[in-house]
Amino acid sequence: MSGKRKGHSVPGVPPNHPFAAFIRPKPVRPPAPSKKRAKAPAGKKEAGAKPAAGPTGRGFAKARTQQPPRRRPGRPGKRGPARDPERTRPPASSERVRPSARRPAFRRPARPVRPPARRARAAAKPARVDLRSLDYAELHQILSDMGEPAFRTVQLAIWLYKQRATRWDQMTNVPQNLRRRLAGRFTLHTLEPVTIQGSTDTTRKFLWRLPDGALIESVLLPANPAAYGEGSDRVTLCVSTQVGCAYGCRFCASGLNGWRRNLEPFEIVEQVLAVERWHAAQHPGLPPGARLIDNLVIMGMGEPLANYDRLLKALRILNAPWGGGIGARRITISTCGLAPEIRRLAAEPEQFGLALSLHGATDEVRERLMPVNRRYPLAEVTAACREYLESRGRLITLEYILIKDVNDGLDQIEPLARIARDLRAKVNLIPYNHVDGLPWERPSEEAQEAFLAALEARGVRVTLRREKGHDIDAACGQLRLRTEAELAAKPGTAEVAEAGGTAATPAPGPAQVPPETEASAPPEPAAEGDESPPSQPPADHD
Ligand code: SF4
Repeated sequence: MSGKRKGHSVPGVPPNHPFAAFIRPKPVRPPAPSKKRAKAPAGKKEAGAKPAAGPTGRGFAKARTQQPPRRRPGRPGKRGPARDPERTRPPASSERVRPSARRPAFRRPARPVRPPARRARAAAKPARVDLRSLDYAELHQILSDMGEPAFRTVQLAIWLYKQRATRWDQMTNVPQNLRRRLAGRFTLHTLEPVTIQGSTDTTRKFLWRLPDGALIESVLLPANPAAYGEGSDRVTLCVSTQVGCAYGCRFCASGLNGWRRNLEPFEIVEQVLAVERWHAAQHPGLPPGARLIDNLVIMGMGEPLANYDRLLKALRILNAPWGGGIGARRITISTCGLAPEIRRLAAEPEQFGLALSLHGATDEVRERLMPVNRRYPLAEVTAACREYLESRGRLITLEYILIKDVNDGLDQIEPLARIARDLRAKVNLIPYNHVDGLPWERPSEEAQEAFLAALEARGVRVTLRREKGHDIDAACGQLRLRTEAELAAKPGTAEVAEAGGTAATPAPGPAQVPPETEASAPPEPAAEGDESPPSQPPADHD
């Protein structure tokens, strides 16, 4: 083969390869320097055997500072690569993708959930006051601020307390616009009768439902001289001042379920107005606005002086000639013995009467029945009563429930007579009403008479009261407890028998702790070894 080139060999190609003459050897490139070595600064030190500094070493940081500034690929610049025209071409409509598909959707951080504006405004607004919780001066100021003439106050007072209006539209001589404005700012609640019990001696017991569904009692004691040890021609109403009671007297049904809340002034005033409304409905021939109640005893459910301010406001409304028109001397406030509030009452200008629930003439017997005696022992309570007597000059009544083998012993006679003489007080003996299942018992009539005679023999002014309403659970708290037990048996809303029909009543709520004021602070718990029976018969309040 003439064209064969000799002396030319290519590594990896056999010399006898037919194209060996045309195969050029592949140029051999020097090996590329390693990355670390390329970044390492040149110099004598680099030439040495010293290893390159680590990523956190000083050598690494120095090398970073000597590198050219980084440029984003594709961005035009002096030293950067040219922009690829293909990449900058706008995509065809068929190639376009929605922005949401190109990048993750933007999500706002979660905001706190706000209540609707109207609800927030309602929550910020104070609860509306009932118009019957205002005294004359407050009513007058409000009407004056509304631009009304002074006689409007008289008109409203007549509608509220003489006509005993229950609706705004009954106030026919009050302009409609004013009624609408008043209805927007104030309530006009009435007590709803749940049960009205009648006794053979014409005593009536009312169980009322308050606007929040709580139940309270009032007892109407018509004039009936034969039923009392002391004759009376007055029509008396016993009213409540609290829902439940915190003082837990051992014989009282009112405190069995604890304290729930204080009554507002209008809820105390309304007890009088609601009974008079009921009476007017029973006697259609009576002239409009005719009064029924002329004597008030604050001895119903609750400790009256533990709700001092609201009670005094309500009593001033009931006492005022523009309001209830009941004389202050015909209003008696009963207390279990809150000494500071008795002193406070002594400083009031009104001539309200005072009754002390004594029920024991020595600390030992009284503590057994009334835990409050540990907070205010007999010496302190009688000292406060003496101040009241000196300030008011009014007769104090000592209420004394006679309970067999507890406080009816003749050992109580002498200390009781001493207290009564010291306070120039009248003692009202009340034989205890027996309740099946409870350990307390009423003393025999002989024992009652013996107790009465022993006091009279010591010159004490004393009456033995034949309990009114003995056949209708007239002792305070019994009717409410029984009704609440019925409601508890029917969860949610229950139907309760009522005079002339039925009424839906919500189940009662749980008992609460009263606010920690000196007046309303509950008494200390019973000490160990207290011999008081665990169950509690009904209260003396009637
Ligand atoms: S007797 Fe009066 S103070 Fe005592 S628990 Fe009953 S309501 Fe309260």
